[in-house]
Amino acid sequence: MGIADGKRLADYGLSSERLLLEGKGPGEFEQEVMALEKAVMATTLDKAITWAQTHSMWPDTFGLACCAIEMMAVTGPRYDLARFGMEAFRNSPRQADLMIVSGRVSHKMVPPLRQIYDQMLEPKWVIAMGACASSGGMFANYAVLQGVDRVVPVDIYVPGCPPRPEGLMEGIIRLHERVNAGVPPAYEMNEESR
Ligand code: SF4
Repeated sequence: MGIADGKRLADYGLSSERLLLEGKGPGEFEQEVMALEKAVMATTLDKAITWAQTHSMWPDTFGLACCAIEMMAVTGPRYDLARFGMEAFRNSPRQADLMIVSGRVSHKMVPPLRQIYDQMLEPKWVIAMGACASSGGMFANYAVLQGVDRVVPVDIYVPGCPPRPEGLMEGIIRLHERVNAGVPPAYEMNEESR
């Protein structure tokens, strides 16, 4: 797919907020892709976009319970999340496009969790890490949400209590495969959750 004259990536379905800003003109990435296409007659714009997305997926700094300790381990030298350009956990949801829900979600945490999700730019993805985030886990009680997919659309579920860092890495690699295969984010497949 090529970019026709006068068109922008937003016209081809890429819906990040930055690209949708009125009157801002093409972003640097758009200009680079257009220049690359003109230079080498490339016809793989979709692949270039997904490659860029999967190699710069920045997680939000967001840990809820014991699973968060395992999540922190993936940034260390043993697991080296930097291999995927993902070691930069962002402190602002506006700079993040991946939410890793690492731990049980108490009902008290639901509003801030959803607010952080809403503040993240599109496209954005969610990984439910561990039994508690996925289903409430051992906490089958009134205080804990029985699955974070009740409040945000989830793309990948990582099983375990806690999942080892390898398990989270597996979930991240599966998410990259989905994006590379053109599978839309969960919120696009489930419009009610927007
Ligand atoms: S899944 Fe296990 S390790 Fe993770 S938050 Fe729940 S109890 Fe803790």
